[in-house]
Amino acid sequence: MENRHRTSLSNVLVIGSGGAGLRAAIAAHMAGCEVTIVGKRQRKDAHTVLAAGGINAALGTVDPEDSWEQHFVDTLEEGYFLSHPRTAEILARDAPSAVLELADWGCPFARTSTNELDQRFFGAHTYRRTCYAGDYIGRAMLYTLADKAVELGIPVHEQQYVSRLLVHDDICFGALTFDLNSGQRTVYEADAVILATGGHTRLWRRSSSRRDENTGDGMYLALHAGCALSDMELVQFHPTGMVWPEEMAGTLVTEAIRGEGGRLYNRLGERFMQRYDPERMELSTRDRVALANYTEIIEGRGGPHGGVFLDISHRSKAFILEKIPRMYRQFRKRRCWIFPVSRWKLRQPPTIQWVGRWSSRRRRQLPLKGSMPLGR
Ligand SMILES: Cc1cc2nc3c(=O)[nH]c(=O)nc-3n(C[C@H](O)[C@H](O)[C@H](O)COP(=O)(O)OP(=O)(O)OC[C@H]3O[C@@H](n4cnc5c(N)ncnc54)[C@H](O)[C@@H]3O)c2cc1C
Repeated sequence: MENRHRTSLSNVLVIGSGGAGLRAAIAAHMAGCEVTIVGKRQRKDAHTVLAAGGINAALGTVDPEDSWEQHFVDTLEEGYFLSHPRTAEILARDAPSAVLELADWGCPFARTSTNELDQRFFGAHTYRRTCYAGDYIGRAMLYTLADKAVELGIPVHEQQYVSRLLVHDDICFGALTFDLNSGQRTVYEADAVILATGGHTRLWRRSSSRRDENTGDGMYLALHAGCALSDMELVQFHPTGMVWPEEMAGTLVTEAIRGEGGRLYNRLGERFMQRYDPERMELSTRDRVALANYTEIIEGRGGPHGGVFLDISHRSKAFILEKIPRMYRQFRKRRCWIFPVSRWKLRQPPTIQWVGRWSSRRRRQLPLKGSMPLGR
């Protein structure tokens, strides 16, 4: 009988060409493996491209008192001690070298006058720790990683939709895909499979995801292969997103605005974070800011479109264009505000992020060998 499948062989199959998938593929390649990456979108169009405000690393370039230990403590505290301490430690300890490596590979981070990586505040940080590229960090990182993968000769197969993980005797040995244009099926066989398929936030009617992404494919694939999903309740509501005009509802408004001095007001003109976290104000943790917005709105102090207001009009236009150019265009282009002299309309919860995980342990508690989850 005619074989209608193509077959592709490698040591490591990486499913997903976002930031997580690309970086994992580069690591596997550098460790001497033959790697193939598959993704359902174009190589440089994974959800990562949307990330805006920045990436955290205790480099101490602007605030020399910062340290990876403080980053670790801030991370645990912001997560109400729910995070796995060892994971938080690895994140905080390794972030500086990972960011410097990206810079070495050409990522266009913003620089200080002495040519060091500039850092800005993000919520719940003791020091300025967020490295940024205007408000295009996702694009800057994704393009850098995608170019690095090309330079290393790692094949990226675009528009390949993974519909099944291949499992035999509790070992994951590959995946089945179909080409989104031609329908052609391919069996990818590999010694190890890395699932870096992003989140599931498109489950919500309003989210910061585009229509055909973050549809929870990785969770489905893992579940179907017999893995357990855990911490599914750990969903974070990002406090700021647009509520008006309707077609823009849910579009994320980066935390960098608050990091660069943005202030939250209610309909009465009160800077209401005073009531909820007078010390950190708008730079409080995301969940506190989200809850504060929500409380203001349900207690009747929201604006005409059901949101509260985010104001950065005390900053100059040149400052805004330098630090948050995409936000300037996002509001200006849609004519929903005469930026920068006034306030932006937001409502909570405009957008959500998932911080749970799937586990390579099987539902019946046997490990699914050969598979590994990564990324969002
Ligand atoms: C507007 C916005 C701003 C943000 N700002 C920041 C920020 O400032 N800092 C920050 O740290 N984070 C930010 N984030 C979050 C950040 O973008 C994500 O956490 C991160 O990009 C996730 O990367 P990832 O590689 O895990 O997933 P993704 O980038 O979503 O990549 C998933 C990949 O899997 C592929 N895929 C999925 N399903 C399948 C399938 N069935 N078959 C084949 N391929 C599949 C996709 O095509 C894609 O290539 C922001 C998010 C948004 C929306």
